[in-house]
Amino acid sequence: MASPVIPDTKPLSTVKSVAVVGGGVSGLAAAYKLKLNGLSVTLFEAEERAGGKIKSNSHNGLIWDEGANTMTESEMEVGRLIDELGLREKQQFPISQTKRYIAKDGLPVLIPSNPVALIKSNILSPQSKLKIILEPFLWRRSNSEVSDEFSHGSVGQFFQRHFGAEVVEYFIDPFVAGTSGGDPESLSMRHTFPELWSLEKKFGSVIVGAIRSGLSGKAKNSGTGKTSGKTKRPRGSFSFHGGMQTLTDMLCTKIGSDNLKLNSRVLSLACNYEESSPFNSWSISYAANNGSHRELRDDQPFDAVIMTAPLCNVQEMQFTKIGKPFLLDFIPKVSYLPLSVIVTSFRKDYVKRPLEGFGVLVPSKEQKNGLKTLGTLFSSMMFPDRATDNHFLYTTFVGGSRNRDLAGASSDELKQVVTSDLKQLLGVEGQPTFMKHIYWRNAFPLYGHDYDLVLESISKMEQNLPGFFYAGNHKDGLSVGKAIASGCRAAELVMSHLNSSTNKS
Ligand SMILES: Cc1cc2nc3c(=O)[nH]c(=O)nc-3n(C[C@H](O)[C@H](O)[C@H](O)COP(=O)(O)OP(=O)(O)OC[C@H]3O[C@@H](n4cnc5c(N)ncnc54)[C@H](O)[C@@H]3O)c2cc1C
Repeated sequence: MASPVIPDTKPLSTVKSVAVVGGGVSGLAAAYKLKLNGLSVTLFEAEERAGGKIKSNSHNGLIWDEGANTMTESEMEVGRLIDELGLREKQQFPISQTKRYIAKDGLPVLIPSNPVALIKSNILSPQSKLKIILEPFLWRRSNSEVSDEFSHGSVGQFFQRHFGAEVVEYFIDPFVAGTSGGDPESLSMRHTFPELWSLEKKFGSVIVGAIRSGLSGKAKNSGTGKTSGKTKRPRGSFSFHGGMQTLTDMLCTKIGSDNLKLNSRVLSLACNYEESSPFNSWSISYAANNGSHRELRDDQPFDAVIMTAPLCNVQEMQFTKIGKPFLLDFIPKVSYLPLSVIVTSFRKDYVKRPLEGFGVLVPSKEQKNGLKTLGTLFSSMMFPDRATDNHFLYTTFVGGSRNRDLAGASSDELKQVVTSDLKQLLGVEGQPTFMKHIYWRNAFPLYGHDYDLVLESISKMEQNLPGFFYAGNHKDGLSVGKAIASGCRAAELVMSHLNSSTNKS
């Protein structure tokens, strides 16, 4: 049952209209929140479908995701949204989600799920284990010492100084490749893991910081009594019955088809905002693609705009401010990481060493043992209803910054690569009975060392264009949960902007 929702901003005196550009999960979440609060919303999506990097598909009893496969509920906006949409019953938690593997010496090894298991396992050398045990003592430093020295370092440098090179090679490298397509040296710690980066600044030791902030988080929860009396929900990653698109489809339903302009690529935006008449200050031109022909159209004036299209697409748009060109030449070029997703199905009797659990990640170092993929999700082990009884379904990722060229290889070549890796890791024999190849040329923006400049350019747009707000995975984090939170926050900002304009006028 969807919970009743109370608008958390003052009601606007007249119905205000907002344009949302981009129908990925951040744009959909923003549009949904605006509509829920009584605003008129128009969402422009360039493609024939909404959802962006969330896309589920099915064929002959197989169900798979072509973009994001799972999400988490770490951001409070996510839990609230799932409740409001009435999607709790459709949430699907993977079986054995704590069973995750990494490849070591060419074979899958279970990742220890707690510190004691890690110390007992033989993934790490005794020296690395000692470094982990000593981290809380070695990193008892004063705050200023830590913050000044390491503010702009890479993910690799951060984890290496706390836990050693082996931890980076066997845990951090495969993790960042699997979640962002990146590599530890190219990714900026501050932008990729802002919470951990802050822990170092605050506590010195990451382990001490994680324990202390975990405890204070619990104390806060018990103080507000928020969790008391509620049924305990499973934690961790999840999807939905039917795949991740169940979420974006539900958002589309709630937004309403009349408010969704699909096949509508925004080309230009004009801002005519003046303090004396702050409303109706935005107009939008877009190309409506009706299959065979493309038509240029202008839409009604809007009071505000939430932009969620990737920055590379924003850079192609024309902006004007009070009739004059507003050049976007201050936005730096964003680097993108390409990824191929290969979905395969094998007959169960052709998989000689199947593993139960979430999946296996492949560290870069394992390339020397012949492994070329970034990792594979055991899709039908996680969600048994996603394949027929006599088949396993796998989702494998190839490319990222580790191997940009291979990401763009042909389907035939990638089929060979994936089959060879799965043969080595799981003992598959023969060819898959089904294969689907999806190529994402710009799968993830790279949160590199100069990402500050990208964020500054977003702020500059927002400051110079009244009523313009940016949200999505180029701003607030790469995960689905962070994209949702970003969209919800942009909707809040639009509402307070419109309220303050109403009060002024
Ligand atoms: C292969 C893959 C696997 C992933 N796996 C996970 C995972 O398991 N868990 C997780 O949390 N995250 C995962 N992610 C990341 C996550 O899916 C994305 O970061 C998130 O969905 C991005 O949402 P968004 O709304 O910010 O952007 P997008 O989904 O990119 O949406 C932007 C939208 O803007 C539209 N657009 C562009 N230009 C215009 C224009 N001119 N006019 C109108 N519309 C325009 C695009 O068509 C698109 O629909 C994965 C991503 C990929 C690619």
